[in-house]
Amino acid sequence: MFLTQFQKVGQALFQRGMVSSQSGNLSIRMGDRLIITRRGSNLGALQEKDLIETGINRNDRATPLASIELPVHRSIYQTTQARAIVHAHPTHVVALSMAEKEIFSDKLEVFYMLGKVPVVGWGMDVKPGALSDVISVALQEHHIVAVHGHGTFAVGPILDEAFNSTTLLEECSEILCLMKSMRI
Ligand SMILES: [Zn+2]
Repeated sequence: MFLTQFQKVGQALFQRGMVSSQSGNLSIRMGDRLIITRRGSNLGALQEKDLIETGINRNDRATPLASIELPVHRSIYQTTQARAIVHAHPTHVVALSMAEKEIFSDKLEVFYMLGKVPVVGWGMDVKPGALSDVISVALQEHHIVAVHGHGTFAVGPILDEAFNSTTLLEECSEILCLMKSMRI
């Protein structure tokens, strides 16, 4: 029953080039459990076997099958009200994350919805699964954060809303990159 939601968002991310064939991950909260995409799964072609259910606070037999970013997803569910998480690698957001400490422009109206998007992880270990503490703390105040040189984590009540924040930030970031190149 959840597969359709995962497939819809996974395919949309893949088609927009925000994840490659083995990157990105999605999850939803189910009480003290979560359902997360399988380690190394292709978000563009998710099947039932790619959805892994495991504990938010404790490991079980399914835990090793979960996405490598499981520690970050767990930490977000432990410290925020999020019910769904989308992690992607949107090109222009990643580019800006190498240059900025926050992504924002008062010239773009859409930032009144997004707010100032923090870039976390400057000078820190940005390996997959790392930075769970700084990411989850930032998501207490924001719907989406960027990780320096890596990608985005977005939260929402459902996967669709976390996906919408991700696409919105990528669209703005593309414009910001163009503005920078034109020195506007
Ligand atoms: Zn990633």
